Amino acid sequence: MSTEAKDFHHSLKQDTFNHPDFYMLDELFTDEQKLIRSTIRDFVKRDISPIIEDACQQARFPQHLVKQLGEMGCFGPQLPTKYGCGGMDYTTYGIMMQELERCDSGIRSTASVQGSLVMYPIYLFGSEEQKMKYLPRLATGELLGCFGLTEPDYGSDPGGMKSNFKDMGDHYLLNGSKMWISNSPFADIAVIWAKDEEGKICGLILERGMEGFTTPETHGKWSLRASATGELVFDNVKVPKENLLPGVKGLRGPLSCLNSARYGISWGAVGAAMDCYESAVKYSKERIMFGKPIARFQLQQKKLSEMLTEITKAQLLCWRLGKLMDEGRATPAQISLAKRNNVEMALNIAREARQIHGGMGITGEYPIMRHMMNLESVITYEGTHDVHLLILGLEITGENAFN
Ligand SMILES: Cc1cc2nc3c(=O)[nH]c(=O)nc-3n(C[C@H](O)[C@H](O)[C@H](O)COP(=O)(O)OP(=O)(O)OC[C@H]3O[C@@H](n4cnc5c(N)ncnc54)[C@H](O)[C@@H]3O)c2cc1C
Repeated sequence: MSTEAKDFHHSLKQDTFNHPDFYMLDELFTDEQKLIRSTIRDFVKRDISPIIEDACQQARFPQHLVKQLGEMGCFGPQLPTKYGCGGMDYTTYGIMMQELERCDSGIRSTASVQGSLVMYPIYLFGSEEQKMKYLPRLATGELLGCFGLTEPDYGSDPGGMKSNFKDMGDHYLLNGSKMWISNSPFADIAVIWAKDEEGKICGLILERGMEGFTTPETHGKWSLRASATGELVFDNVKVPKENLLPGVKGLRGPLSCLNSARYGISWGAVGAAMDCYESAVKYSKERIMFGKPIARFQLQQKKLSEMLTEITKAQLLCWRLGKLMDEGRATPAQISLAKRNNVEMALNIAREARQIHGGMGITGEYPIMRHMMNLESVITYEGTHDVHLLILGLEITGENAFN
């Protein structure tokens, strides 16, 4: 390779991201929030950006990052310091998820699952012993967790789940299976949801190594390739009684965790959109066609203008939702609106950015195609795009259109 070609190749790989802030929203964030954002951004640029493309191309979960994400405070930053967590506000949590997903939705997924779907239910519904036993080690990344709700025949309708456990006197006997579980092949523990003998949904903490508990990996994904996905299989698993989450019964348990995760996604998706936008702006200025940069063509300017408009609207939505979360006033329907809007917005921007990059847009030289494929999962998990409409529809009309 010539020196110029090497330089060109190198410059494409270098992460020079800077977020667009058209409405000067940075003025709305505290100095501490901005400091945390730049700390996470530097970490991402230094330790994740250089390896993420290869990890995705090879469908390899970069397991070594788990400890680093813990050290950077990305696991459960919104939970109390008493349990080794960050004790920060929800806005800061959102900012952190945005920085991670700006790099890759799979990395953000690992942090969302750990913080909102594993640590949060243990914090909210666990006994003091369970909190002390698990939360500090999950916060540092010494332990990796996963969250088992979805089953092969029950996705959008988790209330129909078949996984169940029986009271055997000195332990519970668990049977069933879960599907599409992020982190499962590498997880040390799993917070899973199953029905008791009365048909009530309860949370149980499983540990790797329990007899009859296996976590086969799901292969062949074209999306979230840097995040490991798998099943959870329970074949007469003897679960100690102290592993039941005592604080909740019913679908409210898993749904309250999903709210927290969906909130993080609504920030995260904006990160992916900003990365696509930044790349498209740069490319449009560098790419010469018909003797001039393509940025000079109105059709390309229209795309970029609409991208910035949608990103700015979504940034405002995140900021306000963060405030409502911090005040404990955000409703599930408000969270649904933000998750749904921002993920769709990001996916549309990824598609437009892909076109601006022409053929180069489909290669791993740019992050566009990776973001686009990732977002196809993000628009489906944590409540599908349709399900969030039904949540909003119920809020607006008072009519339940789910069944
Ligand atoms: C990469 C990845 C990671 C995941 N990680 C996890 C995880 O960590 N833990 C976990 O528990 N789950 C996880 N999931 C599962 C995810 O939450 C489900 O895929 C999602 O809830 C949808 O379920 P489903 O795939 O069975 O689709 P279905 O529920 O079968 O839906 C199929 C289609 O029907 C539509 N639909 C369903 N019901 C209605 C209705 N009432 N009215 C109108 N349309 C309807 C849906 O919107 C969708 O378009 C993950 C999924 C993916 C892809």
